[in-house]
Amino acid sequence: MAGMETRMAGMETRMAGMETRMAGMETRMAGMETRMAGMETRPTREARMSIEYRATICPYCSCGCGIYLVVKDGKIIGQEPWKAHPVNEGKNCPKG
Ligand code: SF4
Repeated sequence: MAGMETRMAGMETRMAGMETRMAGMETRMAGMETRMAGMETRPTREARMSIEYRATICPYCSCGCGIYLVVKDGKIIGQEPWKAHPVNEGKNCPKG
């Protein structure tokens, strides 16, 4: 009888391990679904090709940090760091 109880305890332990692994798989699946949703909202290649990067400087103060304006259809939609700029080497302060 003791052998049977030991085997039952072992099975319960394995079941608990399986439940933990299933929970991990569900978490990974949720992560994959989030990534898939992100991929679906990415701009198409055609849309990305219409984006221009224009080199300029931040006008906020007199330091003159370099930035790239991201322009689409004639409108500024963002900015990217200008890593080779000698003043700021791609870094901007919170104001800029
Ligand atoms: S990023 Fe900051 S420090 Fe650089 S020019 Fe703009 S406001 Fe001045």
